[in-house]
Amino acid sequence: MQLHSPIHLVPYNENSLFIKRDDLIDPFISGNKWRKLKYILLDAASKNKTHLVTFGGAYSNHLLATAAAAAKYQLKATAFVRGEEISNEMLALCKIFGMQLHFTDRESYKNKLELFEKHYKNDENAYFVDEGGASKEATIGCAEIINELTEPFDYIFCAAGTGTTAAGLLKGINQLGLDSQLHVVPVLKGGDFIRQEISNYEQDLSKLQLHTDYHFGGYAKTSQELICFIKDFTSQTGILIDPIYTGKMFYAINDLISKKQISKDAKILAIHTGGLFGILGKIDEFEKNS
Ligand SMILES: *Cc1c(COP(=O)(O)O)cnc(C)c1O
Repeated sequence: MQLHSPIHLVPYNENSLFIKRDDLIDPFISGNKWRKLKYILLDAASKNKTHLVTFGGAYSNHLLATAAAAAKYQLKATAFVRGEEISNEMLALCKIFGMQLHFTDRESYKNKLELFEKHYKNDENAYFVDEGGASKEATIGCAEIINELTEPFDYIFCAAGTGTTAAGLLKGINQLGLDSQLHVVPVLKGGDFIRQEISNYEQDLSKLQLHTDYHFGGYAKTSQELICFIKDFTSQTGILIDPIYTGKMFYAINDLISKKQISKDAKILAIHTGGLFGILGKIDEFEKNS
């Protein structure tokens, strides 16, 4: 399948950034979630599995991506959704794509393999897909982002949740022996754990740099400053970014440049990992600050 992920040179404030537009790959199987699912779907197909069973929170981009990908390839999809039963726009979209949802209390949710075994041990078509698509297959798909680059960059930036995407990018950089530094912006508090996560997949961490101070209070936490930055960035560039992942990454890039911690003359590539429906969970914050 030919992916549409061009690199755009985007002026913002006094600087210019290169942006790899993985957000354009597909509106629903968006950005890194398509990269992560690609080899998972191929593995499932090679094992004749026709039922994807996965896990996520109530605003998970991964659930929507899995639902849409399953529908596209005529597979069944089921999700264990963390927490008590609720309805929201994201889950409604998952259901339109035909995904079955099982709301699961937080305690049971912790042991995903056990949940899978308990409900699908006897379903020979069922295929386990970890939360967020985290897997070795996912890192292989994400490494392909690096293979698509046709010119060198000093710094490559990405946002990190589980760190799987970052691990794949680092794998790609190391495999090709590029000089590019990978700059990772964890969106969770205490983001140092990402280094450990990445090392589960990739041993050489010499090109890795973490920026752990841009979580804005933790996963899915925002601030007025972040919301205003997102509005300013989007209205000036025409590129929509989300408050959970890419907003924090672009904020970090802008902040690091303005504090001269990275040179404004450096050639920077930001990976737009998509996930724009994350905005739906934060719509009130945007309204409040308008
Ligand atoms: C899921 C997601 C990420 C995080 O990817 P990880 O591989 O879990 O680190 C980054 N950006 C967007 C838009 C996402 O949806």
